[in-house]
Amino acid sequence: MNVHEYQGKEVLKQYGVDVPKGKVAFTPEEAVACAQELGGELWVVKAQIHAGGRGKAGGVKLARSLDEVKTIAEELIGKVLVTHQTGPEGKEVKRLLVEEGCDIAKEYYVGMVVDRSTGQITMMASEEGGTEIEEVAESNPEKIFKESIDPAVGLLPFQARRLAYNINIPRELVNRAAKFMMGLYQAFSEKDGSLAEINPLITTGDGRVMALDAKLNFDDNALFRHKDILALRDLDEEDPKEIEASKYDLNYIALDGNIGCMVNGAGLAMATMDIIKHYGGDPANFLDVGGGATTEKVTEAFKIILSDENVKGILINIFGGIMKCDVIANGVVEAAKQIGLDKPLVVRLEGTNVDRGKAILQESGLKIEAADSMADAAQKIVSLVK
Ligand code: ADP
Ligand code: MG
Repeated sequence: MNVHEYQGKEVLKQYGVDVPKGKVAFTPEEAVACAQELGGELWVVKAQIHAGGRGKAGGVKLARSLDEVKTIAEELIGKVLVTHQTGPEGKEVKRLLVEEGCDIAKEYYVGMVVDRSTGQITMMASEEGGTEIEEVAESNPEKIFKESIDPAVGLLPFQARRLAYNINIPRELVNRAAKFMMGLYQAFSEKDGSLAEINPLITTGDGRVMALDAKLNFDDNALFRHKDILALRDLDEEDPKEIEASKYDLNYIALDGNIGCMVNGAGLAMATMDIIKHYGGDPANFLDVGGGATTEKVTEAFKIILSDENVKGILINIFGGIMKCDVIANGVVEAAKQIGLDKPLVVRLEGTNVDRGKAILQESGLKIEAADSMADAAQKIVSLVK
């Protein structure tokens, strides 16, 4: 789960990470009130969307008066911001962060990921802050330093200091930078983060080390034990189809192809997407209906697939092990009736109660193409949507 910058900064603050003073605003009037409350004479108004690259896209602006805060807020709220991370459709700005303007001495980068090859959290840092880290990785990979963190002991102070020295933090600020990194790691590990990016981390004219930006992602599977983090979820930022799917405990991920997929088991779902690609098609989604799906769940899954306007046809690929083929068949028929299915449907059923499942589909009167194998199913649906 992704959170907004201002929320990420609140979390970091709890762990002693220094962040600029700031407040969230939903209207231009609130933005002015926030700026007034913060005081000072320089503010930064920042669009809050779940995507980076806002600065370049005009979503981060400096204001030197309350009037300016108002004008900028009026311009940003309701604006569709297109950054290199939003995709061409962009994201509508509904919240702003009004923050004190900081006296930046230099911008750095610090990030954390769960590294699957080492099975450990890795902290990365670079002197090349502000820019996209992917670019640095491409052009100057030697400028990214990494520390792999042993979960038994956590990030050790010497590792944090080594990172700070490697990225040339001024000597007198190394201890502060190290403390910053220790706090960041603490937040990440205690709250079950899956990704963190502080870009930029800054040093200021008056000797502070701060997180000027914060992008935090949390592990969905651990949210049950972090109610405070779960409360930060912003449904406006998520794909409505994925929200609907999560209500029914369906593993659904929207993609941009035109063949809807309904599959049981994540492995089979991946294989199904692969074989569709293999035969020249494009899957519209990943969907694992799970092992214990009920007719209701299958019906909802079917509706979610069909609510995607790009979907031109559906491939159902079920291996009935725990999941029974007749349950799937009932769900498909039920959903097709409720929605009025008018798109090609290819079904490959195999396993428990397969004959009953096939019979249900046949007797339903729906126009269904039966397939004998995965290859057969993929070829059929690919040619039907073309
Ligand atoms: P994004 O990564 O989405 O572009 P950032 O939060 O990193 O957004 O902001 C972009 C740039 O704007 C920063 O690199 C920094 O130079 C400037 N900036 C952001 N917040 C502040 C602030 N509070 N004070 C001064 N400059 C800021
Ligand atoms: Mg940034």
